[in-house]
Amino acid sequence: MHTPAAAVARSRELFDSGVSRPLAWRLEQLGNLRRMLAERREDFAGALLSDLGKHRSESQLTEIGFVAAETAHLERHLAAWLRARRVDVPLAVQPGRAWTELTPLGVVLVIGTWNYPVQLTLAPLAGALAAGNTVVLKPSEHAPATSAALVRWLPDYLGGAAEVVAGGIPETKSLLAERFDHIFFTGGQDAARVVMRAAAEHLTPVTLELGGRCPAFVDRTADLATTAGRIAWGRFMNAGQTCVAPDYVLAAPEVLDALEPLLVDAITAMFGKDPASSASYGRIVDDRHFERIAELADGSTVVHGGQRDPGSRYFAPTLLRPAPGDAVLGEEIFGPLLPLVPVTGRDEAIRMINSGSKPLAVYVFSKDDGVRSAFAAETSSGALAYGAPAAHLTVPGLPFGGVGGSGIGAYHGEHSVRTFSHERAALDKPMWPDTLRLAYPPYGTAKDKVLTALLSFAGRVPGRAKDRDARDRRAKGRES
Ligand code: NAD
Repeated sequence: MHTPAAAVARSRELFDSGVSRPLAWRLEQLGNLRRMLAERREDFAGALLSDLGKHRSESQLTEIGFVAAETAHLERHLAAWLRARRVDVPLAVQPGRAWTELTPLGVVLVIGTWNYPVQLTLAPLAGALAAGNTVVLKPSEHAPATSAALVRWLPDYLGGAAEVVAGGIPETKSLLAERFDHIFFTGGQDAARVVMRAAAEHLTPVTLELGGRCPAFVDRTADLATTAGRIAWGRFMNAGQTCVAPDYVLAAPEVLDALEPLLVDAITAMFGKDPASSASYGRIVDDRHFERIAELADGSTVVHGGQRDPGSRYFAPTLLRPAPGDAVLGEEIFGPLLPLVPVTGRDEAIRMINSGSKPLAVYVFSKDDGVRSAFAAETSSGALAYGAPAAHLTVPGLPFGGVGGSGIGAYHGEHSVRTFSHERAALDKPMWPDTLRLAYPPYGTAKDKVLTALLSFAGRVPGRAKDRDARDRRAKGRES
């Protein structure tokens, strides 16, 4: 076990040694991470079962296999993403070559949360290592078995590339007093404020992956049985403790009436008549969250489910028909409750969404192009998905992140590499001919004319100017 300050010092020493910069080192770490996930799969699956009652298959799909796939994707494309990108040089700066290059930031702090305690620590870790950084990892204290597994196994496979600091708020605060080159945080808004304040002290850039309420809008053009299955899967996976889960359903009253029994069928098909005895159904992470969820359900109208067992922290998949003002409509649920909320149509749904904080994702179940494009044009969210909740996370080319209250910045695949890198601007200007002399003082009328002429070309690049002239000539030809 390392003190936070010692872990950061070791991580900085390793980064400063320059060892993490070469592509070969980065690929080696990613390979080691993938090997750990393969060789220690059972250890991590056991930890996830202990922390959250996660079924092995769900752990493979959403945690262990997910990170392995993300890591393999980084390994496959990293060399290409790191290639310098040429940038055109305007006439005024010619001759010269300009390009950008992704360079490592330094020591990255990754603060994880408990609901996907493998995915949400190791996917950012993979991105930070791919970008050539060293990492200090702080797993969530609310998933203690997974935290212990990370402390136990990461050093064996990654050595000092990833220093793990276990513990709770005091340890996180000690870490935040140190200087990092980037802080990547996943969790709630209150802790995010603490993180951002601490980051301001050292002017450290942050990525904040936060929560929010993800709405699902359904209209009568959707295939309701398939919609019910997909919404139930997204909502009740990990017992509802998923940041991108559909938090509530917005639909016209007659659509809700048709959807409700289909949701019950979908829940029964996935977890049986008594989900308490289904190994496929998870448990609430701790008593505090259990009591919070119970209070939300009891403060509303339960139409299906609602059964619970505080001892095992089982809370049944539950459908609610809330009244306006019920607490369940006012906060992120983060549990297995699904309120069905009537609206007159898409415009009221959009108004309701826009009256709250910007969601991490908006889900639309409709074949109507007008409805689909209205949600695209009139709402703002981290992601917009038609026909499927949560599945956008598995598309490695898509950025994963929020906007407004649901977060700052994004990651996954190339977006991770860019998040954890600095895009450095570079210019190479030959000594001869020494055209820069044209800008030197002393200034006077003649110099003024030269500078004005030069600046009028400032935005033009030779190739582009040629293209534009040719285009203009073609356009003139068409007119005459
Ligand atoms: P949490 O309590 O595990 O906190 C997250 C981390 O912050 C932990 O490592 C914890 O030690 C630290 N922390 C908490 N309070 C702190 C404080 N006062 N000072 C310093 N450090 C502190 O997680 P949580 O906040 O319960 O997480 C749930 C939230 O996370 C939900 O809102 C959920 O939507 C969001 N979430 C977002 C994503 C995403 O990718 N956008 C994923 C999962 C969860």
